[in-house]
Amino acid sequence: MKFPSNRLDSIIKVFRNQLSGLYPENEITSFIAISFKKILDFSRIDLILNAEQNINESDLLKINTVIKELKHFKPIQYVFGRTIFMDCIININASVLIPRPETEELVSLVLKEKVGGDDLKILDIASGSGCIAIALKKHLQNAIVYGTDISSEAIEIAKENALINDTNISFYLHDITSNENIFQDSFFDIIISNPPYVLESEKLEMHPNVLNFEPHIALFVPNEDPLIFYQYILQKGIKWLKPGGALYVELNSSQFNKLYSVFKQLGYISIVKQKDINGKIRFIKGEKPLI
Ligand code: GLN
Repeated sequence: MKFPSNRLDSIIKVFRNQLSGLYPENEITSFIAISFKKILDFSRIDLILNAEQNINESDLLKINTVIKELKHFKPIQYVFGRTIFMDCIININASVLIPRPETEELVSLVLKEKVGGDDLKILDIASGSGCIAIALKKHLQNAIVYGTDISSEAIEIAKENALINDTNISFYLHDITSNENIFQDSFFDIIISNPPYVLESEKLEMHPNVLNFEPHIALFVPNEDPLIFYQYILQKGIKWLKPGGALYVELNSSQFNKLYSVFKQLGYISIVKQKDINGKIRFIKGEKPLI
């Protein structure tokens, strides 16, 4: 695409026109603010004060690429490889999901309850970018936090995120469906997980920004076995938790009844559900009995 002029105000106009109709206007405004902050380090006010300034060719090229990616519905978080999750900067790439606001609610729930006191041992299963483990460690400085994931690319970025957030977390490559028992029994106070839970059949309703850019391995489960990962997480959880410890998971609201039964079958007690901000059942917590 050619820009008619190098002037900032003219470039912003092109940016808006190119995306108009593809996104709501207020979303385009926020894309513009994010993009010019990242590329030129200009705030919203700077964009007005410097409207007549000429932008150099290398920055123009970057802006052009951003517009192209947004036109293909690449999420802005992937465009710049970064997002914010509960005050933590989280780098992301095509190997990990964009952290969701619901998952912030899950972390807040754990922080509110703080089962087990101060020196907690916490495990996050299927960590992805590491956002859950990192946010927990950031808020519970004395906790010892572990994370696992089946993807080595995810583990790599989770470790990088732990570093940039100045948090000490042990991330391990581990497939929860394997027999490899990497933790001792009765070790953790809290286990938390946001495993894949979107049914293959729900693909049809999903937007191209999710379907074409987010890793399917982190999202989808087979229609005929939607709780596959929960089965393993709950089985391992009841072994790895200390008596009195708690397991928290995020879930697909359509699977609540079935998942509640699995919690009961495996011996969890004090099972409680929690809705998300949209009023959907989104979280379940269960405890390992004391005796
Ligand atoms: N909540 C995510 C979504 O709506 C799914 C995350 C997951 O599968 N764990 O796309």
